[in-house]
Amino acid sequence: RPPADALDLRAHIVDLPDHPEPGVIFRDITPVLAHPEALASAVDQLTALTAELGVERVIAAEARGFLLGPALARELGAGFLLARKPGKLPRETIAVSYELEYGTDHLEVHADLLPPGTRVLVHDDLLATGGTAGALCSLVERLGGEVVACSFLVELGFLGGRAALAPHDVHALVRYD
Ligand code: AMP
Repeated sequence: RPPADALDLRAHIVDLPDHPEPGVIFRDITPVLAHPEALASAVDQLTALTAELGVERVIAAEARGFLLGPALARELGAGFLLARKPGKLPRETIAVSYELEYGTDHLEVHADLLPPGTRVLVHDDLLATGGTAGALCSLVERLGGEVVACSFLVELGFLGGRAALAPHDVHALVRYD
């Protein structure tokens, strides 16, 4: 399949002011997924950002990291690793905790799926504070993998996620400042 035309995905992201609370603009990416050309273009543009990095696995967190993560892994010729909320994965896991604005969250991955030295891309739909992606980076590193980059459909630049993920490279298709 030839690469899809590089559409401006911003035109397919719907803003919801004051959702889920006053002062927050929720960036709804479901219209990107619903539109055939936008979906193809999103996967192809994400693929192009990291195609030269020798990615062997993509890791993403439930739920919205699972939307494009497996398609991206397929295009990169990589495998896909699921990071899930506690208690969802049936076999031995390792877990990480990370801070949210209010409270703490946890993610788990199956402990035996990442051979040491594996080159891993961390992916999510959207980069806000970097808490979620940072937790994924530390899981990968504790398993002996190498984080080669982090990639996102959307970056909220004003929340400092890019700096929080340093020294890892951050790539995003649509940025809001
Ligand atoms: P963070 O861990 O702070 O980088 O937050 C990233 C996660 O929160 C992503 O998985 C997003 O799905 C979600 N998220 C945070 N802020 C927004 C927002 N303004 N619009 C849509 N999703 C958001």
